[in-house]
Amino acid sequence: MCLKIIGAPAALFISLNVLGSRFVFADDLIGLDSDIKRNLMNTTSFEARTRALLNEQRQSGTYKHLQYIVGPMGPTVNLEGRGDVICLCSNNYLGLANHPEVVAAAHAGLDQYAAGTASVRFICGTFTCHREIEETIATFAGTEAALTYVSCWCANEALIGTIVGPNDVIFSDALNHASIIDGCRLARPRERMVYAHGDHADLEAKLKANMDADARWVITDGVFSMEGAVADLAGLVEMCKRYDARLIVDDSHGVGVLGRTGRGTPEHCDVLGRVDIITGTLGKALGGAAGGYVAGSQDLIDLLVQRSRPSLFSNALPPTVACSAKQAITLLQRDTVLMDRLRANVARIRTGLIALGYECQDSPSAIIPIMIGDEAEAIRKSEQLLDLGVWVVAFGYPVVPKGKARLRVQVSAALTDKHIDQVLTAFGEIK
Ligand code: PLP
Repeated sequence: MCLKIIGAPAALFISLNVLGSRFVFADDLIGLDSDIKRNLMNTTSFEARTRALLNEQRQSGTYKHLQYIVGPMGPTVNLEGRGDVICLCSNNYLGLANHPEVVAAAHAGLDQYAAGTASVRFICGTFTCHREIEETIATFAGTEAALTYVSCWCANEALIGTIVGPNDVIFSDALNHASIIDGCRLARPRERMVYAHGDHADLEAKLKANMDADARWVITDGVFSMEGAVADLAGLVEMCKRYDARLIVDDSHGVGVLGRTGRGTPEHCDVLGRVDIITGTLGKALGGAAGGYVAGSQDLIDLLVQRSRPSLFSNALPPTVACSAKQAITLLQRDTVLMDRLRANVARIRTGLIALGYECQDSPSAIIPIMIGDEAEAIRKSEQLLDLGVWVVAFGYPVVPKGKARLRVQVSAALTDKHIDQVLTAFGEIK
């Protein structure tokens, strides 16, 4: 799937979640319709078809322009060529990407371990800081053990590609992240089934029809990134128990955000310790650098160490990231100040936007989609906001259904009351 970012100053696109049938990716990925792509791919050399594809993207307005930021990620960022703007489009939910203790931990990691392992984990690529971050993640997630990867993308592919057997069936929510989709493609199960988004009746029917499989794997995002919607994990835990299925939750947008102590969607849904496997990223709330993890039973982690291809054949997490992410989690374990601040900021922005007459979907997450409807109007509004010093990205088809274009506001604990006043004033001006 392709996540189309139609934010100013130029149209921008990022691969993220896909809508609907997420097991159809390649065409979505570049925002082209299948027939056009098939014709292009069939008839031309690599050079010619590449130029044609790029031209098509330029013409259809789906060409990605990268915005260069000068300096650290924070509540405001210095956009090259534009200057300081309030940033409402990063996943820096707790503002830890530039937190002094997180940055100092990265420096200390660099001093102690230098740049990296120059090796994969099982040869000579495991530093003691890897054990420390993995023990910290497991404690935080409430699981026996954890294993890190260079990204959550990698973690999802490693996990699903390793654990699923040939007579197993996968059941994946229709709005799951692209890394889950690709992980499912790497696995070779008896069948991959997509259930309608959040539709437990559909999932139940599919589970019932597959009771003869060796194992049933239900996979869902904890928080869905386009809607900010939260999976009903209590219902899914119950359903998996009833149909002897295992539940995998990718909590990349939930960890650090949901739950009183920031332990994510399982804490929010009161099922901490009852989700079989959790994956997540260290590249959003937990320091914002990069890195991902799988958390689960000791047997599962042992299996991944022995068999998962990204850890057997690819370098370990850089030590700076292992150290900065560990410090980020330590900050969360110390008190709930950042989570409380984030919740207060989300409430203030959501209430303010609704008071201004915007249609905001309800959610406890830090993602506030503002429904605009018309795509051109959404783009126009994001450009106007940027001119007023507020960076919000607009999303249109095919990332969201036609006629459901939206601005996606992502809130950070680092935003001050003054920033929020400015944000609401800007939204008021463009209404
Ligand atoms: N899973 C979900 C739900 C995500 O939203 C993302 C990133 O957008 C990822 C996985 C990938 O995370 P990473 O950047 O660590 O690869």
